[in-house]
Amino acid sequence: MSDCIFCKIANGEIPSDFLYEDENVVAFKDLNPQAPVHVLVVPKAHHDNIIDGVPADTLASMAAAAKAAAEQTGVDKTGFRSIMNTGADAGQTVMHLHMHVLGGVKLGEGLLPKEA
Ligand code: 5GP
Ligand code: ZN
Repeated sequence: MSDCIFCKIANGEIPSDFLYEDENVVAFKDLNPQAPVHVLVVPKAHHDNIIDGVPADTLASMAAAAKAAAEQTGVDKTGFRSIMNTGADAGQTVMHLHMHVLGGVKLGEGLLPKEA
């Protein structure tokens, strides 16, 4: 998709440092980190989000990328949270499928902010 920022990053049009790359996905640091470790796992093919119907090999690559990013940042040992926001109520701001990998701090047991 020509004006999609994650398409441009994932396909090398915008030069970025990747923590992981395979034929289906890349992983790179979030521009506006919300935890000491905040990595985004992004497919190279454009899908708006998980509702689009994502191929199984892409989902497998996303899991491999999350594992690799966790190992490189050390949160494989301490724990981390993986989140995929989908649509308006979830606060998805970039309409290109991505998984957040968040860690490096105690994230607590609740999944949702208190006001939700
Ligand atoms: P969402 O709210 O859609 O789940 O998450 C989008 C994420 O993408 C946000 O955490 C935001 O900081 C990140 N982001 C948006 N634009 C860029 C960018 O150009 N580069 C990087 N590295 N992260 C971005
Ligand atoms: Zn895209």
